[in-house]
Amino acid sequence: MERTMLSESEGYDLLKGYGVPVPSYRIVMTPHDAADAAETIGFPVVMKIISPQIVHKSDAGGVVVGVGSREAAVSAFEKIISGAKKYNNNAEIKGIIVEQQAEPGLELIIGGKTDPAFGKVITFGMGGTLVELMKDITLRIMPLDEGTIRQMITEIDGYPLIKGYRGMKPKDEEALVSTLMSVNRFFLESENVVEFDINPLRLYENGALAVDARVIVADKPVQQAVDERPPVPMEYFNPRSIAIVGASQDSSKMGYAVMHNLLHFPGQLYPVNNKRSEIQGLKAYPSISAIPAPVDLAVITVPAIHVPRIIEECGVKGVPMAIIITAGFKEMGEHGKALEDRIVAIARTHGVRIIGPNCLGMIIPPRGIDTTYVHQSPRPGNIAFISQSGAIINTVVDMSLAKNIGFSAVISVGNQADLDFLDYIRFVGKDDKTKAIILYIEQINNGKAFMEVAAEVAKCKPIIAIKSGSSTRGQAAASSHTGSLSGSYEVYMEAFRNAGIIAVHTLTGAFLAAQMLAHRKRYPKGRRAVVITNAGGFAVLSSDYAERYGIEIVDLPSEVIDELNEFLPEFWNKGNPIDLLGDATEKRFEKTFAVLARHPELWDMAFIIGFPNLVLTSEQLAKQILKFSASTENRLVATLLGGDSMNVGREMLKEHDIPSFDELDYTYRVVGRVLWQKFRVKAPGLL
Ligand code: ADP
Ligand code: MG
Repeated sequence: MERTMLSESEGYDLLKGYGVPVPSYRIVMTPHDAADAAETIGFPVVMKIISPQIVHKSDAGGVVVGVGSREAAVSAFEKIISGAKKYNNNAEIKGIIVEQQAEPGLELIIGGKTDPAFGKVITFGMGGTLVELMKDITLRIMPLDEGTIRQMITEIDGYPLIKGYRGMKPKDEEALVSTLMSVNRFFLESENVVEFDINPLRLYENGALAVDARVIVADKPVQQAVDERPPVPMEYFNPRSIAIVGASQDSSKMGYAVMHNLLHFPGQLYPVNNKRSEIQGLKAYPSISAIPAPVDLAVITVPAIHVPRIIEECGVKGVPMAIIITAGFKEMGEHGKALEDRIVAIARTHGVRIIGPNCLGMIIPPRGIDTTYVHQSPRPGNIAFISQSGAIINTVVDMSLAKNIGFSAVISVGNQADLDFLDYIRFVGKDDKTKAIILYIEQINNGKAFMEVAAEVAKCKPIIAIKSGSSTRGQAAASSHTGSLSGSYEVYMEAFRNAGIIAVHTLTGAFLAAQMLAHRKRYPKGRRAVVITNAGGFAVLSSDYAERYGIEIVDLPSEVIDELNEFLPEFWNKGNPIDLLGDATEKRFEKTFAVLARHPELWDMAFIIGFPNLVLTSEQLAKQILKFSASTENRLVATLLGGDSMNVGREMLKEHDIPSFDELDYTYRVVGRVLWQKFRVKAPGLL
């Protein structure tokens, strides 16, 4: 795809057509014409270089502001030309633009780019030459409506400068809204425009003016990939019979490990091996076609070059789905890619669906299915884990055994030649064993479709995602257009937020968030919290953590304080966090919870923090927390701090899906992350 940069004046003309305010200008080729043009426009003017090779005009000495006379225009002309030649001798100089000089104003940036996964994206933030330094930019995936545009404006850190800060008069926010609406329409309707930035847009007490425009067009419109694959029937994930092509008796082979982990499968298992008649105690068949009964799933571990033939055989036999564990395809470059394409084509003609290649396949513990070579199969449970990395699956499964975490499904997506994230999310979304979904994502191909499917599933089940690739390395050479500032990772984060996906950074964080959201009540309704504790120190820390992670500790109205006064010791702190003091008994917690349950409209979530002591057992505390939870629709989050003495209580809470964390910072961090998704909390802690 050819990309070309339009000149500033072409950019102005385009934008003007959509109602974006731009300066008047003339393009000149000689110093004399420059002087004439400046005079016509009216002094002072700004003069700038026009060259497709010079992207940052100031860097090339290509911008002169405050040109106040004919003589100044002549000398500016010469200065700009000689500067440009010095900067880049090969730069083709198309003339000089003489434009109306704008009054100083608040410098903002509006930009757009085309993300490979999610399509067109609009960015907005504080502009000018310090844009990379300030990094005060927000972004949205197109199309935007007016509400979204208003939200973007208010959420940048620089918003007070727009609203009016310390006696400064407010800027024309409505002019900004209408400019952003115009720009939105321009980008939406200009199919060939792949990237642009207006930096700066000057905003005044009255009106706005774009004083630079860089527009990049492609020779053909950017088309989003459309998903034409038919959906995968649910029963494909519930095979009654499985063939293992490449099953082996040799414990050093992949085909051995895969077979080994499948021995627990309660359905029919058919090892396929053309050299042996028995493998790991089961009768083996020389080929798929030699199996005398229907096969619902083929697991393939033979070398890549044999795979096309095996898929052909699967097709002839009517095997509906195959998991290709074998590597050596697209991930190996051109040759492997061609082989992969061939396999997909063969599969398609026969209607065979493919998981992988280059994957571990799937583990569905409740059904006794494990096509992977993990060290030990995980326990059944309610978390679905879908991962683009096989190594991470091995790690997570191993960790889960020690931590007593169980799975409804573990799926390794591999190269996603046919089935991809969408199919797996649809499957676990419908699967009634799955209560929470965790994704490890490196890259998504069809972002728009992904957002749609994930948003649908996230309505009834929490989706938590780790997205790799957040580092800015590689963006170091970034130019000053927004395109590079809104690196793809930020677009993913925005897509996640839209789709209702909680983004986390660590595996531990993913499981903590899953724990938090596995409860029927899911999200807190809002950000307002009450804290109830018997530990003064943790009450103080609670306030710190809550503030850090975007949780609002509400003030209790006097009638609630009065109700609490009736039974709390005289010297309780009479505020929120509610410190019940170290000698708090079960009764004191019970009565406090009852008061809060009577006023559910005052708070959205309650943090209950207990520490080990001799007047209150963890069991008593857990019992009261459960009773409290049953008496309110608001969310409860427990933190039973301490060691093993708290285990009984922790277990009781776990049985009822009440999240209970054993480190207070994590409690607030997890909730902050959840709020990040729902309420656009700014900069919540990393999880
Ligand atoms: P660059 O290619 O370096 O981004 P710009 O066209 O943005 O070049 O010009 C650099 C700076 O000069 C702008 O950030 C702005 O502050 C100032 N400037 C440019 N054009 C005008 C104008 N018409 N009126 C006033 N200031 C301007
Ligand atoms: Mg600029």
